[in-house]
Amino acid sequence: PERTNAKGFDLTHAPTFQNLATARLEFKDADWGAHPLTSFCPQYSRRRLQFGQPVLNPAVPGDTVGKIQTADAEDIAKAIEAAKPWNDSVTKRAEVLNAAADVYEKNAAELFAILAREAGKCLPDAVAELREAVDFLRYYAAQATPDENPRGIWTCISPWNFPLAIFTGQIAAALAAGNGVLAKPAEQTPLIAFRAVSLLHAAGVPKDVLQLLPGGGEVGAALTRDARINGVAFTGSTATARKIRETMAGHCAPGTPLIAETGGLNAMIVDSTALPEHAVRDIINGAFRSAGQRCSALRCLYVQEDIADKLIKMLKGAMNELALGDPWHLATDVGPVIDAAAKDGIASHIANAEEDGRIIHQLPTPAAGHFIAPTAIRVRGIGDLEKEIFGPVLHIATFKAHELNKIIADINATGYGLTFGLHTRIDDRVQTIVEQVQAGNIYVNRDQIGAIVGSQPFGGEGLSGTGPKAGGPHYLPRFTAPAAPTATG
Ligand code: GLU
Repeated sequence: PERTNAKGFDLTHAPTFQNLATARLEFKDADWGAHPLTSFCPQYSRRRLQFGQPVLNPAVPGDTVGKIQTADAEDIAKAIEAAKPWNDSVTKRAEVLNAAADVYEKNAAELFAILAREAGKCLPDAVAELREAVDFLRYYAAQATPDENPRGIWTCISPWNFPLAIFTGQIAAALAAGNGVLAKPAEQTPLIAFRAVSLLHAAGVPKDVLQLLPGGGEVGAALTRDARINGVAFTGSTATARKIRETMAGHCAPGTPLIAETGGLNAMIVDSTALPEHAVRDIINGAFRSAGQRCSALRCLYVQEDIADKLIKMLKGAMNELALGDPWHLATDVGPVIDAAAKDGIASHIANAEEDGRIIHQLPTPAAGHFIAPTAIRVRGIGDLEKEIFGPVLHIATFKAHELNKIIADINATGYGLTFGLHTRIDDRVQTIVEQVQAGNIYVNRDQIGAIVGSQPFGGEGLSGTGPKAGGPHYLPRFTAPAAPTATG
């Protein structure tokens, strides 16, 4: 399939660095709490907006990015009542979604500023995220066909790690198929969601067709236990996906679909024939880009014993080159983790490894902000990882050539199956390993993050998700209902 983002950025609107700086200032001064949320969810009263929850910058202590009002039970009830499928023709819907993609691009500077300050995204990640969001809009717009039968109203629950791309992707698929959407963004990143919804409305998505309901788990729960909900799209943890399934089973009509994209315990195998420079580059990207806060990220590296010393030495050198700091600075490679709770959890995992003397390498940590310095930890194998550590922590094991089958069995035994990476120059080995490993996305001789909409549909199996893969041809049809039988003469 062709890449959908052939168009790229419209240069007439591309932000210059000066504009980016201005965007930050304007954004800093903007009083987000005073935005009329009434226009996103008609039931909000203006009075309540004065008491919005502050949204904090994870990199800079004391920097309040904006305020947002959490939806309460009454807001949710009214939003469900008001929700409507999108009755416009498929041509019109595709037109509006393409227009939304253009509007996103024109507002790039502001979106980058919000992504950096609210989600801690450094600039290359913010750029990649906007492009992915735009790709989703154009890809699903191109896929919508007149034969589709919308299911009705979808609840879309999205994560903070791709607060624009995944937020937009779920909504775009549901809308392209003619559904109405109740969107619940992650609690940590409601402002970028707020801005995205305002742009989607400005592009022509009707307000009762797309409503934003910010809040935490209780808002998500309320939006999944109502018989008027006809489908749920969720990206987040495996544990939350389980809860959603149980809630839906107790309240929604049988057969109401749940599309869940969840966690991963992703491995990479580097054998002794690998090109070390390439392997190191891809390990660094996979483990530390986006501060390791991708479900696709590399968690456990297996290096063949013969090259382990050399490769680990090169890896330490490459880690030393990573710049950790405020994501807004152009030189920054690794930004903060999302919040204090994330930082504490990852730090205690590292502290345990420290106690056992298993730290291979660690960079110095900035004093202020929710930072975790990139860290490499020795493990015997992936079985030592009890859970997904969602941060810039790489676990490294070594293996002997005859242990390859055992490693693959261990990787499959985790029950997850999201991404897998392999560095080797033996073609036969690629063939055998790729056939054996159970993972949704397998990457050979490259890094294992950054799937491209349209050419690398993204999603896992087992504990990693239900499928269908996002950004692939089977995703949008899941948002539609089988056509009603037509009478034949
Ligand atoms: N699609 C992203 C990637 O390929 C990961 C999405 C996620 O972390 O949820 O890196």
